[in-house]
Amino acid sequence: MAATTRLISRLALVTGGGSGIGRAVCQRFASEGALVVVADLNEEAANETLRSLSRDHKVQEHMAAAVDVSSKQSVEDLVESIQRRYFQPASVCVNAAGITQDDFLLRLEEAAFDRVVGVNLKGTFLVVQAVAAAMVASGVSKGSIVTVGSIVGKVGNIGQVNYSASKAGVEGITRTAAKELSRYRIRCNCVLPGFISTPMTDKVPERVIHKMTSLVPLGRMGEPAEVADVCSFLASDDSRYITGTSIEVTGGLFMG
Ligand code: NAP
Repeated sequence: MAATTRLISRLALVTGGGSGIGRAVCQRFASEGALVVVADLNEEAANETLRSLSRDHKVQEHMAAAVDVSSKQSVEDLVESIQRRYFQPASVCVNAAGITQDDFLLRLEEAAFDRVVGVNLKGTFLVVQAVAAAMVASGVSKGSIVTVGSIVGKVGNIGQVNYSASKAGVEGITRTAAKELSRYRIRCNCVLPGFISTPMTDKVPERVIHKMTSLVPLGRMGEPAEVADVCSFLASDDSRYITGTSIEVTGGLFMG
């Protein structure tokens, strides 16, 4: 991975930063010069990520914070705490917080549907809304919001009716936000990971992983850092003419 400085002087909020893809995004952003706010439901995990970040800032430091993205109050508290600490809002945001609670359609409990939609879909709405409002209020000159969907939101997946619905919705939020926020110089894009090796997929039975991997044209699961590379591109000026799009990071799974 080539370290660059293309995110220098950017303040980046990453939810779900305590694990997997979110942690890799924090590390990548810090290595590219951003100041990073690592936010997660699991505060200890967020602090662990914080300790792993490169630090060459002379004045300000990265921070870790607890957040529950499914709670409006919690998300608003987080955005306020960033403003208090840095005297500016984040100009980059990656909402990587997400959960699964799998079961077949015919068995899935209503509570499991609500919980997954509450974190993945409503959580994306709350984070995008609060972060965008802070950017607009400060007159940010270039904002970039990256949402994390899933290839499953496009193609569906057995046992994931709640998850696939929530992730399809994340793309809808992203495209609408892109249309509404472009006048404020805020771009909004979505990454669609395929099968990435993280604690989330550690829960998937080995035989399912084997079967899915055999369908991936590039022949393996992805690494969190490979999703972080795309988030970094979308956060930076290298993608300045890109908004409202979804980028698949799947090793070619379900292409076309
Ligand atoms: P992960 O390792 O489980 O990380 C997700 C993080 O989000 C965890 O630290 C989790 O904390 C946190 N979180 C859960 N609920 C939260 C909430 N309400 N508020 C704030 N943080 C919360 O999963 P991952 O694989 O890196 O997934 C990251 C994102 O990529 C998710 O949106 C996921 O849906 C998406 N994705 C992943 C894959 C994949 O193959 N891994 C594929 C497609 C999309 P706890 O550990 O305390 O729950």
